[in-house]
Amino acid sequence: MSIWTPLRPLQPLCLCVPVRARTSLQLMLVAFLMPNITALTGQDAWFEKVEQVATASQEAPSKPPYTRRGDEVEMRYRAYNERLESFYERLSAGVRENAPELHPTLKAAPPKAVLHGYQILPKLVPDGQAPPERPRIRPAWYSWPWTQRLIELQVQKIEGLEAERDHILALTPTERRAGYGKLVADYLQLPESVRTIDAHMQYNRLWQPAIAHDRAGYDHQTALYHAVLERQAIRDALSTMDDSAFHKALNGVRGIDLAKGRDALETELREREKTLSREIHEATDRMKMTPPPFLRVEHPTPRRWVVHVPFYTDIADTEFVQSFKVAVESLWRLRDRDEEFGVQLSMTYVSATQLYRERPECGRRGHVACVPPRKGEQIDLDAHVALFPNGGGVLTTGAISTHVTGRAIALGPHDITPHVLAHEFGHILGFRDLYVRGYQDLGRDGYQVMEVSADPEDIMGAPGTGPVLRGHFEKVIGLYSSPSS
Ligand SMILES: [Zn+2]
Repeated sequence: MSIWTPLRPLQPLCLCVPVRARTSLQLMLVAFLMPNITALTGQDAWFEKVEQVATASQEAPSKPPYTRRGDEVEMRYRAYNERLESFYERLSAGVRENAPELHPTLKAAPPKAVLHGYQILPKLVPDGQAPPERPRIRPAWYSWPWTQRLIELQVQKIEGLEAERDHILALTPTERRAGYGKLVADYLQLPESVRTIDAHMQYNRLWQPAIAHDRAGYDHQTALYHAVLERQAIRDALSTMDDSAFHKALNGVRGIDLAKGRDALETELREREKTLSREIHEATDRMKMTPPPFLRVEHPTPRRWVVHVPFYTDIADTEFVQSFKVAVESLWRLRDRDEEFGVQLSMTYVSATQLYRERPECGRRGHVACVPPRKGEQIDLDAHVALFPNGGGVLTTGAISTHVTGRAIALGPHDITPHVLAHEFGHILGFRDLYVRGYQDLGRDGYQVMEVSADPEDIMGAPGTGPVLRGHFEKVIGLYSSPSS
């Protein structure tokens, strides 16, 4: 069983790409081509070549559109990375000569490719702003054309900075120093965009094949996606007194006769909202959770419950592991009606050596399966998770992007917040996502992935902001108090 968490546009939270999702041939082609093109030609010719290779990739008949288009965008992404590096080198040279006082700042912020693999940890960053009291749902879309657009925007930025640099070379030394000051400040915004684009790349790499392999399932999700948006439009209409806002909200809602009087329409809309809510509820019902066998509920006082969850981890960075524990325990804590609910994690470290070398079948020296993966190595996550002792959740690394698979939270390299870690922990308790993911077929461009939260006031519906609710605890405690229910 795999449970995934969505990426917000331009703000990676918690991504979802299994390690095996890479398409090796095209990546090998890119890796092979790029250095040669760079060596032989100038930037413009280089990009022209990328365009040609990308077009050839589009025309390759044996691959499905989502793969071909992904390979094409991946080439553009790599070309963009190389161009950023080349700009950085030339900017550094100019700064050393004209504004050496800026050089330490620049040296501390080189462009870095995003590494994925074993023991690569995400940076834990603070939670975003708390949402308004009743957050309005907003759909999010991802596609190859959109990822390409993000890359193009960044390339345009570099082009602008390159033109600026050429311009300041003609200025007086004092003006030139000031010009470099601005250039360095503008450059410092760029490396972060690499991470954002990388997050989009991985997201599309996961979801587009997933859609292709389960069209029927995603057709159902797509219908639910539209149901969630339609329900929101109806709620918007019903909540406004203003007639023009009422009509505007219903724009795009099919089967509504706007010529009818408002009273008649409202009755119809309330009925429809109920039907839609029922459909959405049936598909996302929190109560249909599957808890793992390793939870233990403690009831130390009449008004206090603690859910104990053992975890195994092969992450040697104790500070990170402690931060994970603190994030989960502080977000999964609730006081309500004089009652108190919480979770307690016990983290046990198991080294990679223990996992791989101390297996009984590792009697023979040099048995390949007994060699622990190196840092940055791509691993088969499911096989890796299976090496951990039973009887607990697993916190590990090696995902291209953070996701839950079975009893394990597999971390990817992109920044993550405490709230998103707590959302992933919700999956370990057995809760499903409360958002839906549909799609639109874009033909040669692959698929557009479309997501919307079915309930933004629940941590499982809004990973970055939604709260943990009393209902979550009641469900877990109820199941463990009377296992037959
Ligand atoms: Zn999730």
